[in-house]
Amino acid sequence: MENHFYIREIVHYFLHFVFPLLVAKIFFKNNWKKAYLLMLATMLVDLDHLFADPIFDPNRSSVGFHLLHSYPMVVLYFLGFVLLKGNYKIIALGLVFHMITDFQDFYLWRVIFR
Ligand SMILES: [Zn+2]
Repeated sequence: MENHFYIREIVHYFLHFVFPLLVAKIFFKNNWKKAYLLMLATMLVDLDHLFADPIFDPNRSSVGFHLLHSYPMVVLYFLGFVLLKGNYKIIALGLVFHMITDFQDFYLWRVIFR
């Protein structure tokens, strides 16, 4: 059982750090470094966890709980990705991926192991 927690962590950090790098390399060939850094910067939305008690709870889904992870915000991020341009589009994309990462981190593993 501890084993799958370990795998879950690896998948989580892979999606947070490595996956944006692949996206940046593939879709933003000419400015992949900027795209990657902008997507990494979207990790700042996790600051909303500081208002929660406990700050991190593996048995709670971030998505739908924290302010910047609420479903209306997820819709905004998605709209931002569709409607915005340039750096803002990249940031919105990073936020959408962040939400997908947090979402799978809770729901996917729950479906598989519980
Ligand atoms: Zn998050």
